Amino acid sequence: MILDKYDYLVIGGGPGGTPVASALAQAGKQVLLVEKGAGLGGTCLFEGCIPSKIFRESARRLRELRESDDFGLCLPSRDVHIDWSAIQERKQSILHLRSIGAMQRIRQNPSLDVVLGSAMFLNSTHARITPVSDGPVDIEFREAVIATGSQPVRPPIRGVDNPHVLDSGQILDINHIPKRLAIIGAGPIGVELSQIFNTFGSEVTLYEAGPRILSPVDQDLAEYLQQKMSDDGIEVITNCHIKCISRTGSGVFVEYLSNGNPSAHRYTDTVLLVTGRQPNTEGLGLENTAVKQTPHGIQVNSHLQTNESNIFALGDVIGQPMFAHWATAQALALAKNLLNQPSPFPVTENNTAVIFSEPELGMAGLTETQAQSRDIDYAVARYHFKQDARAQIANQARGQLKILYTRDKHRIIGLHALVEGAGDLMGEAALAIAQGTTLEELASAIHPHPTLTESFAAAARAALQENSSG
Ligand SMILES: Cc1cc2nc3c(=O)[nH]c(=O)nc-3n(C[C@H](O)[C@H](O)[C@H](O)COP(=O)(O)OP(=O)(O)OC[C@H]3O[C@@H](n4cnc5c(N)ncnc54)[C@H](O)[C@@H]3O)c2cc1C
Repeated sequence: MILDKYDYLVIGGGPGGTPVASALAQAGKQVLLVEKGAGLGGTCLFEGCIPSKIFRESARRLRELRESDDFGLCLPSRDVHIDWSAIQERKQSILHLRSIGAMQRIRQNPSLDVVLGSAMFLNSTHARITPVSDGPVDIEFREAVIATGSQPVRPPIRGVDNPHVLDSGQILDINHIPKRLAIIGAGPIGVELSQIFNTFGSEVTLYEAGPRILSPVDQDLAEYLQQKMSDDGIEVITNCHIKCISRTGSGVFVEYLSNGNPSAHRYTDTVLLVTGRQPNTEGLGLENTAVKQTPHGIQVNSHLQTNESNIFALGDVIGQPMFAHWATAQALALAKNLLNQPSPFPVTENNTAVIFSEPELGMAGLTETQAQSRDIDYAVARYHFKQDARAQIANQARGQLKILYTRDKHRIIGLHALVEGAGDLMGEAALAIAQGTTLEELASAIHPHPTLTESFAAAARAALQENSSG
């Protein structure tokens, strides 16, 4: 049953909306959470982080099987049969389990009502809720949080409406492994999916308008990864402009201009478009409020407050950075502040991210480009994983760790690791950045052997040694 009046209306049940609604309800506030999809979890659960990493896990295990000879394990054949429908079924069962679990946990809270349906603002204190299985109901709220996420952008390329052209959500539901796959956009999603499908046997061509893959990542790490992708058989075409996509027989034809050269083309079976995401604000009735937005998202101040003092917004719908953990961090900080428990809001200087490439690329804090644009006087400590015990044991002795630290106080401002397992290094990296840890502190912390975390202390010790001898 929907009440007439709530303390809080939260719109969107993803990694942003769900935790803010739960935290407010746990404090005894009357909360209504409205989600227009089939269940709680958002893009992250249904068409983002989780399904893509389920595919990645199968791809990783496939690579390991193919490399098993290196570990003295000789399989009767190198030919591993990929059962795509079993991979899809495994994905569906994990999504189902997680979605049911989220709903069960949230429904335990008596002051939190969840409605599957849509919400639209009538003004700054009233909204129309339309449940999927019922007629519309108008409610009054004291404060509201918009956490409606984002959706893929369809760039204005001739032929993008062709049925062979998929977005990131659609490719995760595909019922076969495409023989040839063209991916347009070499951001994190394009890079991850190109390596996954390449491992599964697709002939992958990755098109990028910029001069290299992964523009927000430091050049040395991105170039290393780009080379690795080329070595693995992915054709990476940079500095290119896609002119059109047209249908030919059973496949499609991608026509593009590259480096100013005359038009070139490639035939493919499936095209994946991953050129960016746009905020989900359509149908929210923002025009009935003073909430302002740009094409990048809803405008908020540093307290996530919109132009309406009682309406807040967070997560993908307010623009970059677009990560599940970032949306959740904003949600938890906002809930505390709304409950009069002043708490700092997350700042990008402390953010972390993992690109689930092969090898993984973990990032915490600032990149070199960001440090330079802020005029920070910094130096870089490096560690190459070819010398690392754990990486050698795992046959992953490639890639490097970079630590950015201030020259004056040796405070760590950035940690970037390119190595299989880098994702799991980012927990310590996040804490080091958030706590303003110094090189000396990192060097003296006892890191267990043999683990990849030893690289942190080794890089810090080497930099201190170099500084003292230089
Ligand atoms: C392929 C892919 C891989 C990704 N991998 C990662 C990763 O590995 N790690 C990571 O951190 N991030 C990853 N992301 C990004 C991550 O999914 C998002 O940053 C995160 O889901 C944003 O959370 P959110 O709560 O802001 O929005 P969402 O998760 O998009 O949730 C918003 C919810 O609001 C609902 N909604 C929208 N409009 C309305 C309305 N009018 N009324 C009611 N409900 C509405 C939507 O149905 C949705 O459920 C990935 C994204 C993609 C596409």
